Amino acid sequence: MESIKPRFRFAPSPTGGLHIGTARTALFNWISARSMDGDLILRIEDTDLNRSTKEFEESIISDLKWLGLNWDEFYRQSDRIKFYKSEAERLLKEGKAYMCFCSSERIEALKGKLISEGKPTGYDNQCRNLAEEEIKENLKNKIEYTIRYKVNPEEIRFNDLIRGEIKFSSEVISDFVLIKSDSTPSYNFAVVVDDNDMGITHVVRGEDHITNTARQIMLFESLGYKIPNFAHLSMILGSDGAKLSKRHGATTITQFKDEGFLKDAMANYLSLLSWAPRDGEEIFFLNDILDKFKISDISKNPAIFDIDKLNWLNGNYIRKKTNEELFELVLPFLIRENLINQGELKDSGLKTKIFKCVDAFRDKLKTLAEFPGYVKDFLSGKILNYEDEALNILKLETSRKVINLFTEKLKEIKTSGESIPDDNSILNEEKARAIINEIGASFNSESIKGKLLYMPIRASLTGKVHGPELPKVISILGKEECLNMIGQTLAFLKNNQI
Ligand code: GLU
Repeated sequence: MESIKPRFRFAPSPTGGLHIGTARTALFNWISARSMDGDLILRIEDTDLNRSTKEFEESIISDLKWLGLNWDEFYRQSDRIKFYKSEAERLLKEGKAYMCFCSSERIEALKGKLISEGKPTGYDNQCRNLAEEEIKENLKNKIEYTIRYKVNPEEIRFNDLIRGEIKFSSEVISDFVLIKSDSTPSYNFAVVVDDNDMGITHVVRGEDHITNTARQIMLFESLGYKIPNFAHLSMILGSDGAKLSKRHGATTITQFKDEGFLKDAMANYLSLLSWAPRDGEEIFFLNDILDKFKISDISKNPAIFDIDKLNWLNGNYIRKKTNEELFELVLPFLIRENLINQGELKDSGLKTKIFKCVDAFRDKLKTLAEFPGYVKDFLSGKILNYEDEALNILKLETSRKVINLFTEKLKEIKTSGESIPDDNSILNEEKARAIINEIGASFNSESIKGKLLYMPIRASLTGKVHGPELPKVISILGKEECLNMIGQTLAFLKNNQI
């Protein structure tokens, strides 16, 4: 038997940025297509001319690419308007659709009346059986019309690949519009014409489209098209069980990108919304799961969006990066926070400092956007804020001794004249470690060691009692900055009579 190559499609409407739910639909289409050696089609559904924009289309495409998704064919519905019209005319000829001359005012009024009576809204089929004469007269008078589909009483069944059998009675569906009065197609009609024309074998989309699927199946049948397979993904809910919305924080991929999530972490996380590999391994690149993935393993339960888990995953991906890669990734965040500007990056001293910060803080980061908060403490000219615990340490008699000796040792380090302006290159981590050891050895007999040795140095340099390893802190600051900070601390203690 000849086997048909599976063909999937992802069909975003460019009426907003790439929402996380839509991104997850795109991702499952991509995984499904790639895991079945099929094709993936990107189709921009922009027939709602009032709400669709080129900017949203571009931002959706750029976010899809950012997530690492690719596609084999690309279409835009606004380029295909004539196909829809001709298929609708075929249905008209076959008596499966009719011209409806009701004005939009009448339709609105009807809707209002039905709502006030507590009845389901829908068209009352007024134009379904217009006499030939009347139609001709209306056309002659250039009365605008829509083309409506004649819904016949029937039961619609389909076998959802995720949810199993789903049944609908067409009685709850009234005659619906195929072509609007401005000649553009309705969503349901354009989708069916396109899915057929593009040879789509699998429609994977959100659960919110299930009722549309019933309408679309009627259209597939009436047009004599082959009905594709359907798989409806469950909704994504916030941790409070409500549908995910702005209230829960970031909702578009652009926002997550701006918050410092890495593309691989984001793609990994989205794939875990309704699916998990059977081996329980939760951290993976999309390419690694292609041979494990089956559409039927997607869960039909609502997926809960868990920001803690995304943060955890993102931290894992950050730690997969080399210092060099991370350095490049954090720069836009430092620039955005006005901590540095592009021009200043020519200064190798600043570059070295940022690079050392990357090394010092990489293990703490959950998102790239947290990085500026850490670096800010190490940029020159910083005014320290002292934690109470730091002041308690600095108060101690022994602390003064440690700080004084540390200062002496710093001053002993040669700044090698004008030829090497970057004194960070001299006070490196190794040298800092050696200095701390020397101070420890000097105070050995007085039992100043461990915390009594480290804490005063850290507190005098940063105002804090916790942070990255002390030699790293010293090396990031460099000789001059260390001396500045200590000077600042001693002045603070004196001014506050501590
Ligand atoms: N344009 C529709 C949407 O953005 C796509 C629905 C479909 O996949 O059929 O929701």
